[in-house]
Amino acid sequence: MVEFSDNGDHVVVVTSDRQRREGDALIGADGLWSKVRAQLLNDGPPRVSGHIAYRAVLPIGEVPEAWRPPSVVLWGGAKHHFVHYPLHRGDILNLVAVFHSNRYEEGWDTYGDPGELKQFFAHAHPQVQQMLAKIDAWKMWVLCDREPVANWSRGRVTLLGDAAHPMLQYLAQGAAMAMEDAYVLANEAAVANGDFAAAFTRYQQQRYKRTGRVQLTARFFGEIYHAGGATADVRNDIFFNQAPTATPGESMAWLYDGIAR
Ligand SMILES: Cc1cc2nc3c(=O)[nH]c(=O)nc-3n(C[C@H](O)[C@H](O)[C@H](O)COP(=O)(O)OP(=O)(O)OC[C@H]3O[C@@H](n4cnc5c(N)ncnc54)[C@H](O)[C@@H]3O)c2cc1C
Repeated sequence: MVEFSDNGDHVVVVTSDRQRREGDALIGADGLWSKVRAQLLNDGPPRVSGHIAYRAVLPIGEVPEAWRPPSVVLWGGAKHHFVHYPLHRGDILNLVAVFHSNRYEEGWDTYGDPGELKQFFAHAHPQVQQMLAKIDAWKMWVLCDREPVANWSRGRVTLLGDAAHPMLQYLAQGAAMAMEDAYVLANEAAVANGDFAAAFTRYQQQRYKRTGRVQLTARFFGEIYHAGGATADVRNDIFFNQAPTATPGESMAWLYDGIAR
């Protein structure tokens, strides 16, 4: 899609090969660099966070037995962290290394520079360094988000997922929020009786505060993971030195309990 026009009772979209398509409504689910959002909100490019992610996978056979815990392991340090967890029934280990960088170019899904990674993790735990050294080709993402907004629907046009509420990956919720959006939007569209403008407004009203809270909380977790000095002491106190509550995970129930059917 390169541009759209909302003509009141239908929407027209022009594609990159200059074809015109007509429909009852338009849902911009076109991701972080959404063209639908650019035209709808004209609010500039996403915010570059200054954090960069390198991702790779290792066949489990290449991972020493002692490094194969069945769940998520997070190694934290000032301005960087490293996460690994098994995927695909434990056949492969997913590795994600994140660090602060001055690189500000737009980009995602490109190849990273193992030399840069080595430099940023030069003081990391030896086990982390050994795991990082096993990978030659890392995919790289420049991590971006936006401030929450409450106006991502207008007339017969709306946004969904990262186009509406891009967030940092620290809560691993971007795709999850996109699926919740789809569920709510489908329900509203089903009872709209052709009034898509009203359905899209109801959808947006149900979604923007929850997704906005995830956007802001994800940023906070990024700060906490990468803390140094006194902030790291506060973080360690919260995570490791407090007696567990009667209901583990209680403080995140607002997120992980999902939405009402
Ligand atoms: C490092 C990293 C780790 C993550 N980890 C997790 C995780 O563990 N859990 C989780 O839930 N989320 C995670 N996410 C977030 C998740 O990947 C995104 O939130 C999710 O992919 C958003 O889905 P979407 O459909 O909104 O957008 P996208 O997945 O970006 O899809 C947009 C689609 O639109 C297409 N498109 C773009 N422009 C146009 C156009 N003009 N015309 C037509 N088509 C177009 C694109 O080709 C693409 O197919 C992570 C993200 C990153 C960067």
